[in-house]
Amino acid sequence: MKTLKIGEDSSKLAKEVLKDLRASPSIELFKCLQCGMCVSLCPAARYSDYNPREMVKRVLDGDEDILSDDDIWNCFYCYTCHSVCPANNSACEVNQILRQKAINEKDGLDKISSFLTYGDSFVEIGIGSIPSAFFDQLVEDFGEDWLNLKINLENVRKKLGLKPVLLPEESIEEINLILKNTKFINRLERIRRLE
Ligand code: SF4
Ligand code: SF4
Repeated sequence: MKTLKIGEDSSKLAKEVLKDLRASPSIELFKCLQCGMCVSLCPAARYSDYNPREMVKRVLDGDEDILSDDDIWNCFYCYTCHSVCPANNSACEVNQILRQKAINEKDGLDKISSFLTYGDSFVEIGIGSIPSAFFDQLVEDFGEDWLNLKINLENVRKKLGLKPVLLPEESIEEINLILKNTKFINRLERIRRLE
């Protein structure tokens, strides 16, 4: 754990978390009781070394090393901890803010690089699509039928009398404008440069 220097505010990290755009106005980080309810029902804690109670404690202790801790990437945002916390804290939101900080400080960029093609699909077709890097695993899990459905989706939809899933060109252009102006496209490029 990073040692705090004399005069350093141990609540600096917690205050930064609370000031973050992602933090709900009602989040009660400083009221965490360390009761462990969040851990008891957390599926990520069950199958990995990730511990939401401990993560919150480290934030309250001002331990900035938490940002480079691989375990924070095991949470998958089911919000169970959020719904059971007796203090109205949200380990889930705290985790999201820590990850964003890790990404901003570059430590977390490699963790999201496998999702680049997901971002690319918003640029190319205006909607999110499963990253191609996961195709082999999905075929292994669901069989070749999954891939056949994906390839022939538009034909299947047509036969069922459904509209095409693909957006019209003008909508894609409009979405691209939003992605450009919100710097989403810049962000994809930044991650790609670090691959
Ligand atoms: S975040 Fe909530 S559930 Fe988790 S230890 Fe703190 S008070 Fe308990
Ligand atoms: S949101 Fe994350 S920390 Fe909370 S219960 Fe789900 S996996 Fe665990």
